[in-house]
Amino acid sequence: MKLIASRLRGMQDIIPGESEKWEYIEKVMKEQAKLYGFRVIRTPAVELTDLFKRATGETSDIVEKEMYTFNDKGGRDVSLRPEGTAGVVRAVLETGMHNQVLPLKLMYISSCYRYEKPQSGRYREFYQFGLEIIGGNATMADAEIIDLGNSIFERLGLKNIRLEINAICCEGCRDRYFALVKKFFELNKHLLCETCQSRVERNPVRIFDCKNESCKKVIRFAPLSLRYLCRDCADHFQFLKNYIDECGIDLTVNPHLFRGLDYYSRTVFEFIDDSGAEPLAICGGGRYNNLSKEIGGVKINSVGLGIGMERLLEVMKKQGAKFPENKPCEIYIAPLGGPARREAVKISHNLRKVGIRAELDLVGRFIKPQMKYANKIKALYTIVIGAKEMEDKKALLKNMASGQTAEIVIDDNFVENFLRLREELDKTAVSQIENQTENRAENQAKNQTENRAENQIESQTENQAENQAKNQVESQAENPAKNQVENQAENQAKNQAENRAQSQTEGQIK
Ligand SMILES: [Zn+2]
Ligand SMILES: [Zn+2]
Repeated sequence: MKLIASRLRGMQDIIPGESEKWEYIEKVMKEQAKLYGFRVIRTPAVELTDLFKRATGETSDIVEKEMYTFNDKGGRDVSLRPEGTAGVVRAVLETGMHNQVLPLKLMYISSCYRYEKPQSGRYREFYQFGLEIIGGNATMADAEIIDLGNSIFERLGLKNIRLEINAICCEGCRDRYFALVKKFFELNKHLLCETCQSRVERNPVRIFDCKNESCKKVIRFAPLSLRYLCRDCADHFQFLKNYIDECGIDLTVNPHLFRGLDYYSRTVFEFIDDSGAEPLAICGGGRYNNLSKEIGGVKINSVGLGIGMERLLEVMKKQGAKFPENKPCEIYIAPLGGPARREAVKISHNLRKVGIRAELDLVGRFIKPQMKYANKIKALYTIVIGAKEMEDKKALLKNMASGQTAEIVIDDNFVENFLRLREELDKTAVSQIENQTENRAENQAKNQTENRAENQIESQTENQAENQAKNQVESQAENPAKNQVENQAENQAKNQAENRAQSQTEGQIK
């Protein structure tokens, strides 16, 4: 097969199987951010190139090398956004949101574009989760952003995530410091890599980001911003450390952390994953007090962070983080013949109307491949409607896990019939086994209040029942701490074993 066009280099398709993981992460992020009072903002993927030039700095790698820049049909110089913050600040200023109540707490998940050399976990189209507190002047805003970022990683089950922070001077104290840095690198220019040599004149603090070994040696002796903070900056940094401490988050001060963007002042931070061979930054952010002014608006002190979605997902997978299971199809309807198909369309329509995940044959298959399909999509229930069922106005509803069936009337009350029968069939032993392996004691307590013994006979093999009871008693005895309802659970297990033994005997007699 040769397509006339294949996917562009550095781009990716996120297909089912993977897309659910994205949805899950996005859901957690949004829920968590809403807890902190954040609201969603969406801005265009294309903006005038000048916006990004002014925001990230003319001399940044992003603007110089990585932007997707082109003239649109109206001859405008436009670019695909290389990051999220500039567009958000532009939108705030343009819509006048900042004239209402401050701070504005905004979040977004945006596609961003950078024409970089593709490497693992890095794409030319990538997604950024962003949080911005616009008009958050107090140091508590920095702390809140960091706490929120950290809480997202916790909720996603990540481990070994380390917070690094640095104080990088403000408008008041940065000139003096930058002059010192420049002087230092000028003196050591001959030891720097080619890129850094060109940075000395234009933007010397960028040299701190260089990964080149010889540059790193020089950087080690460079003057550190921490020593040249003005009084306000020093206070801010101390308060920030205190607040982060109050949130119970460990932090490391990394005096060499500057981050690539021009617009940061005072606080910069990164969350770093330490579980791999090399430390990997999965989140970065900082305070940007001058960005709004830089792009022609009023000065609004702000702070924000960005999380690269691809990298976060990569780290989650690497760490074996858990993703929720997909919700399966609740009922699969297999029609055979014209009238049954018409009935199936009606039934599935009505089921979905009340929120039940129903599917029906859309291919025109015979019964066997239809059932195969139902198995493949892990349908919980199936119903086959053929000519006979249409005539009788009855069909068999089958619980796919237990194999148990019940007669369901096909009439205008099909949805109610289904819900009632499902509840009965759900109480079968096989589904109980499933519950037990997953939820153990909790479900048992629930299950036991109802009389299951009769249903259990049909679908539970003898050995299973015996072993289960034994295992339960044993594992509960072994892990008494885990059991909040020790005695209760033990009694339940015993009762169960007894019930089962009894009903098995009855079954055998029958
Ligand atoms: Zn300062
Ligand atoms: Zn270098």
